[in-house]
Amino acid sequence: MPEIRLDGVTKQFGTFTAVDDLTITFDDNAVTCLLGPSGCGKTTLMRMIAGLEMPTRGTVRFGARDVTRLPPRRRNIGMVFQYPVMYPTLTVRENIALPLKNDRSVSAAERDRRIDEVLEVLGLQHAVDAFIDQLDAGSRQMVAVGRSVARHSEIILFDEPTTNVEVNAKLKLIRAFKEITRRLKQTIIYVTHDQTEAMTLADQIALMQDGRIVQCAAPRTLYGEPTSEFGGWFLGNPGMNFLTAVVADGQVRADILDRPLPAPAGYNAPEVVLGIRPEALRLHATAQPGTVPAQVLDRVITIGGRYLLKVRAGSAEVKVKAARGIEPTEHMHLEAPRDTLVLFRDGNRIPWPENQPEDKEAAPQWTSMSA
Ligand code: ATP
Repeated sequence: MPEIRLDGVTKQFGTFTAVDDLTITFDDNAVTCLLGPSGCGKTTLMRMIAGLEMPTRGTVRFGARDVTRLPPRRRNIGMVFQYPVMYPTLTVRENIALPLKNDRSVSAAERDRRIDEVLEVLGLQHAVDAFIDQLDAGSRQMVAVGRSVARHSEIILFDEPTTNVEVNAKLKLIRAFKEITRRLKQTIIYVTHDQTEAMTLADQIALMQDGRIVQCAAPRTLYGEPTSEFGGWFLGNPGMNFLTAVVADGQVRADILDRPLPAPAGYNAPEVVLGIRPEALRLHATAQPGTVPAQVLDRVITIGGRYLLKVRAGSAEVKVKAARGIEPTEHMHLEAPRDTLVLFRDGNRIPWPENQPEDKEAAPQWTSMSA
């Protein structure tokens, strides 16, 4: 199935620019999640890929095919929306079969094979003869997905399909999406504002802000190596800690560091921003190499059964996520592993000098819904 290539794609509504000069390729046979806060332009971008909206400027290509001016029906795409259009008087099987019935290139045997395949992957065999209004919202979305997938469209576009599904059904739905996309290898664009959903499903995530893609990368890269403060803040629950660090005499100093670190070569500004994830920081009961004295100001227990702590070290206050194995007392010792520290200047990441950071500690892990 084709890759999707955008070249200089811009969408203006009057004087307002909703999508701003995007040039990017979304991989073929992969799931790309468009992730970002409300109003950043995800749906507008997806609608331009679908042909529901014309770009003000720029081109959209599926592989070598320029589809910029083609209507949706000539693009060979499937779409799954928040509120799927269903036929309540038809059964699950009949709903999935409907688009295939109009396709003369598909034989009856092939049609039945495809329908059985999606029913199996989506776990809907038990409901084949049920009518749509007998199903809950999650199962209705499964049928909508099955209908798009069974058509064997080259590209499938999902616009926040789990928004109206309750949380337990949502997990089931996301696992089903993942399984079906793994098996059928279609090119998929999936719009969501839910980072856990994106982390779980995506081969690559295009993180959007103010009509632009600020980073497009595999979930682990986006989480571990954000190229902007926005990426560090938006991903994670809660997002990164940001601390002002002083740069002087070629060294970076901050209250969470037990000793200065070499500054990037030629870097003369008096300050940088140091980013570190709450789950990367470690608390110890006793002083150790690499730790600084810290005071625990506040603590809550999260749904995952971990502690989320507010900790002060010198004048710095940071959020720390800790396993429940430790029992935080008021006075602890805080460690900021060197290889989990990220430097930013003017909102963008800047590299540490070569061979820096020196301590090789395990990087923090993000958790996905499938874990
Ligand atoms: P959400 O998650 O809230 O749907 P989004 O990231 O999908 O947000 P879009 O729906 O693409 O964002 O909207 C991007 C911006 O463009 C918003 O400020 C929105 O108000 C504006 N916008 C979208 N469609 C139109 C339109 N037809 N006319 C005017 N402005 C629009």
